[in-house]
Amino acid sequence: MKTRVVPINPRRPAARAIAQGAALLRAGELVAFPTETVYGLGADALRPEAVQKIFQVKGRPLDNPLIVHIADRDHLRQLARKVPPAAFTLTDRFWPGPLTLVLPRSAAIPPEVTGGLETVAVRMPAHPVALALIRESGVPVAAPSANRSGRPSPTTAAHVLRDLGGRIPLILDGGPTEIGVESTVLDLTGPTPVLLRPGGVTLEELQAVVGPVDLKPVEGFRRRSPGTRYRHYRPRARTVLVLGSRPGLAQEVVEAHQAAGKKVGLIHRGRHLRATSSSVLVKVLPKDIAGYARGLFAALRALDDAGVDIIVVEGVSEQGLGLAVMDRLRRAASEVVGGT
Ligand code: AMP
Ligand code: MG
Repeated sequence: MKTRVVPINPRRPAARAIAQGAALLRAGELVAFPTETVYGLGADALRPEAVQKIFQVKGRPLDNPLIVHIADRDHLRQLARKVPPAAFTLTDRFWPGPLTLVLPRSAAIPPEVTGGLETVAVRMPAHPVALALIRESGVPVAAPSANRSGRPSPTTAAHVLRDLGGRIPLILDGGPTEIGVESTVLDLTGPTPVLLRPGGVTLEELQAVVGPVDLKPVEGFRRRSPGTRYRHYRPRARTVLVLGSRPGLAQEVVEAHQAAGKKVGLIHRGRHLRATSSSVLVKVLPKDIAGYARGLFAALRALDDAGVDIIVVEGVSEQGLGLAVMDRLRRAASEVVGGT
């Protein structure tokens, strides 16, 4: 299959490109498109054969459920059997945006979408291209991140092409995504909201709107968010996460691996860095956490593409977006050093 990459204005998407994408979705095909978080791989959520293609193309385990994307907040009622008052409070405040709600599913949702669960995850994205595409297709769009399963999520069309080129017909290229980490997933099926995955809407923002949020459901967690048990966000290179505030620790880790003859990449936060040997590939990310989140997956992929053996990355404080960033870093890492 030939993959077409069609450029599209992220703020004012051209009707023609949207119509192409929507026609493919209606025909049961897959379309990759930008959202404000990462690029998504969309299929008509109401057609089991279309949804199955997502799992094939990504190599995704069948019991890892998909998020259903809508362009009109009223459509939530068609997908969820019960919508608690807290859901309306949250959607009023955060939709469109990077917040996914888990609710009891309606009979309209095929089991392929939910991995057989009785719940469904729903989000209304804020990106004009995503909204226009969903609206024009006229169906709810099931869309996980548009990467091969287990790899860092794609934040550019080039990342999608690299992972899925030849496997999907169309990528809408709206440029780099704004947030860079995925949506926050919040389970509203119990008495207290449960944070299943930290993401673009911060825990602090959620708490300000709904009060207490449980972080770790003690029982049934695996069953409730199956996706969280799989390897995720992993570069090919062995990734070492460096924790703690001791200056120079990351550099020592780099030097130790170099001494062992490894080709090393370092993801660094725009702080002072002692001169490193020229054989270290350094990706400098902004110091502010939003800039760091925006650039993280691209940095992991760039170091991978440069063929490093080891990626050394420094942790961040788990406040605000930092909670989502650290969640991704912990999953990306095969080793953690330092810390308290
Ligand atoms: P992805 O779209 O690949 O970034 O991942 C979607 C995330 O949402 C995964 O962590 C899923 O496990 C989670 N998810 C999707 N549907 C449900 C659901 N019905 N219940 C709990 N978690 C869900
Ligand atoms: Mg994903």
